[in-house]
Amino acid sequence: MKAVYSNLKFLRFKEQLDALENGHMASPVHIRIKPINACNHDCWYCAYHVDDLQLGKLMEMKDVIPRDKMMEIIDDLADMGVKAVTFSGGGEPTIYPHLEESINRLGEKGIKVASLTNGSGLKGAVAEAFARYGTWVRISIDGWDSESYAKLRNVKLGEFDRVIQNMRDFASLKSDCVLGISYIVDQKNYKHVFDFVSLMKDVGVNHVKIMGVIVSNDGLESNQYHDGIREEVREQIDRAKLLEDDTLKIVDHYHEMAERFDKEYTTCPSQQFLIVIGADSKVYSCQDKAYTNEGLLGSIENKRFKEFWFSEENYNRIKSINPSVDCIHHCVEHQKNLLLHEYLAADEKHVEFV
Ligand code: SF4
Repeated sequence: MKAVYSNLKFLRFKEQLDALENGHMASPVHIRIKPINACNHDCWYCAYHVDDLQLGKLMEMKDVIPRDKMMEIIDDLADMGVKAVTFSGGGEPTIYPHLEESINRLGEKGIKVASLTNGSGLKGAVAEAFARYGTWVRISIDGWDSESYAKLRNVKLGEFDRVIQNMRDFASLKSDCVLGISYIVDQKNYKHVFDFVSLMKDVGVNHVKIMGVIVSNDGLESNQYHDGIREEVREQIDRAKLLEDDTLKIVDHYHEMAERFDKEYTTCPSQQFLIVIGADSKVYSCQDKAYTNEGLLGSIENKRFKEFWFSEENYNRIKSINPSVDCIHHCVEHQKNLLLHEYLAADEKHVEFV
């Protein structure tokens, strides 16, 4: 199986790299759309609801992208040559009443489609649409059994079993859509990584990404939360890796997390590749600044996305974000930004000396 995760994917998109080098805008490659802010789970660490984290300060639970706006956005993305869309939260994407139609429209227009989800709605017509057009679906999980899952998410007993059954049913569709898991490690579940991966192998998922819960904007504080469990998690992941084969991969992002807070660079090139459209019909710089004033690029409520994206307003706003000052918090794009800056800093008179 080839690698699903890589920080070097941007190297395949020359138009965007040239735009960065020459100081103009190209279409983004990938857009995360948060279609709805309502959620049917209530995870204790949800970055959009926890007061200690910067995410979600502008988030209104009632917000949802109207159907016509969603179809307009999808048509614009196709016109612009955007390659991929991931539905994510905010809220739970599978609650969005127009999700099936949106997946089908994206697929028919040749745009790759994926989703982050809690898995509760991965069934019926939505599951079939993902099986037909989806490149991947990734389910976030933290509990390792029905009881722990109910406690960590404030849901009823039995919800864990329903989600596991949805996953089994989806895996049995035998489509090309990759079924992944994000296992969010915290101080309650860290001893269960191996057992959980064993269960996922039995369910038939394709990969399990191990991630750490973020408990603070402050890197030191968030990392201290994990200090006492980091080594045990490593041992658990090492054991889980023994379960890998051609159908199941384990991806350790847990042990990269500590480096994703402090930044020395003063521009954020990853916005040329990936940005976020929120349920409030506003455009944000990235998933780590969604629903914040600091990450707000502008509104498309009364404007087409295509018009907004190529506007001077957007260009100037993107350039004005200074990660060394504005992004002293967790940033999932940090490694990619480091590599992009290294790429852009190379003297063109010397690049032939590879
Ligand atoms: S540096 Fe990270 S957090 Fe800041 S705008 Fe860029 S992607 Fe977002």
